[in-house]
Amino acid sequence: MQAQLAESQKLDALGQLTGGVAHDFNNLLMIISGSLHTLRKGLDNDPRRLRALAAIEVAAKRGAALTSQLLTFARRQSVNPEPISVAERIDAIREVLGTGVGGAVTLQFDIDRGAWPIIVDVTEFETALVNLVINARDAMPSGGVITVSVRNDTLNEAVHAGDCVAISVEDTGVGIAPDLMSRIFDPFFTTKPVGKGTGLGLSQVHGFAHQAGGTIRVASEIGKGTKITILLPRKDVTLPAEETRAAATGGSGT
Ligand code: ADP
Repeated sequence: MQAQLAESQKLDALGQLTGGVAHDFNNLLMIISGSLHTLRKGLDNDPRRLRALAAIEVAAKRGAALTSQLLTFARRQSVNPEPISVAERIDAIREVLGTGVGGAVTLQFDIDRGAWPIIVDVTEFETALVNLVINARDAMPSGGVITVSVRNDTLNEAVHAGDCVAISVEDTGVGIAPDLMSRIFDPFFTTKPVGKGTGLGLSQVHGFAHQAGGTIRVASEIGKGTKITILLPRKDVTLPAEETRAAATGGSGT
């Protein structure tokens, strides 16, 4: 518990720092992008200069994407929480989750249809799942199985107690070394080659889970695999889809 609190405080401090830097850096990128627009007008189609300009533009866009991820981690990005059914949401993005998974890697689902509703920013929720599935895939260079599962759980921890929905992504991959465990959620921590990893995937997952009032559990064994579980508090709300269904049933009733 102590370790969990310390980890959370460290990530909060990192969040404040990165949030401040990302915010100011984003303002600088806006100036660069705006000035590029003006410069482009006076270039008279000189191909060499246009190429240089295009390269700066691409770099500025990548910078903007990075700061956006950092702002999410720092919880400064505006979010739009709404009640959802996890089962229905995951059904809707099965194809997206399967993108990039193939060859000797199989993706399977084990979803409890009776899972309680949760309240989340849908884009953040989907991004977190995609990030977890990509990591699971990357952890299995010679193939294996990724299992996305959803079930109801009850937490009895000081930080988060009560009913929650557990959303897990489990792989049969290389596992995470115990000495790296305390660093995997740090922004920019990656063991992947340059160009493959940014080290921002799990910090997004962490930012999302905490923003939604939840927590994360990691279980991993070297050579066996990893299971990362996002635990989000149960919300007793009526889902919009249920309202629609209820209305439809009522309308066709006797
Ligand atoms: P990235 O994927 O860009 O490296 P992440 O923040 O998503 O950034 O992950 C940080 C690091 O945590 C990864 O580089 C990897 O070392 C480790 N990691 C994350 N998920 C897994 C997993 N499922 N199996 C093994 N290692 C993992």
